[in-house]
Amino acid sequence: MLEAVDLHKRFGELNVLNGVSLSVPRGKVMCLLGPSGSGKSTFLRCINHLERVDGGRIRLDGELIGHVERNGVLHELPGRRIVHQRQRIGMVFQQFNLFPHLTVAQNIALAPTTLRKLSKSAARQRALELLDRVGLRDKIDVYPSALSGGQQQRVAIARALATDPKLMLFDEPTSALDPALVGEVLAVMRDLAADGMTMVVVTHEIGFARDVAHLTAVLDGGEVVETGPSERVLESPGHPRVKEFLKHVR
Ligand code: ATP
Ligand code: MG
Repeated sequence: MLEAVDLHKRFGELNVLNGVSLSVPRGKVMCLLGPSGSGKSTFLRCINHLERVDGGRIRLDGELIGHVERNGVLHELPGRRIVHQRQRIGMVFQQFNLFPHLTVAQNIALAPTTLRKLSKSAARQRALELLDRVGLRDKIDVYPSALSGGQQQRVAIARALATDPKLMLFDEPTSALDPALVGEVLAVMRDLAADGMTMVVVTHEIGFARDVAHLTAVLDGGEVVETGPSERVLESPGHPRVKEFLKHVR
């Protein structure tokens, strides 16, 4: 279970997260919607401590992320402990971010071999299993430049799964894709959800939110303006700004 409680994040004078509290039970999928600049990416980046929060707590299965608490005061964990925690949180970005000079197998095996000291042959075996899962077994030895955008994103998902995360974060994973390639990436995400992965997905794919996400939350100006079962949030939002926003993304 992911629990974010009263998260605050500032960039200089700009308050980007103003007390965001959201929780996602284990095995559930939350879709995060909201206008540009509302703080969606910042929220995801705070969850895996790519950004330092200015206030609030994040827990994954009860464990504080990025901090340790002593006598009610939070102290930031040393970098190596954060790196360790981050392995349990997979992240997929809009721009795939595969390493162009590494093959598909090497991209997937990098974290398991360097962080987990998995042997090369075990890491290759693991890469094969993960590529099977995203339907790209035959691409194991090619470079990312030889893949379509949809294939690159599926490799990025396999790579994020390589350290056995408990939670997967997706930041607009299909926004950079040719419309014809969106479906294959959503299908992989749908399978992951069906396998019981806990996920937070920032997306404008309302169909995915409706069909796959158990929960939908809407951010506006760094605040949660709506959250609940996707069906209710999408079909009968209470907040006028959410009604307005949904008109534009449909
Ligand atoms: P989009 O839909 O466009 O991706 P978003 O909801 O993901 O938007 P964020 O990227 O979280 O929004 O940004 C929220 C606000 O924080 C924006 O005003 C942005 O300019 C600002 N911001 C984000 N990252 C930084 C940074 N590293 N330094 C300064 N300001 C930042
Ligand atoms: Mg964003």
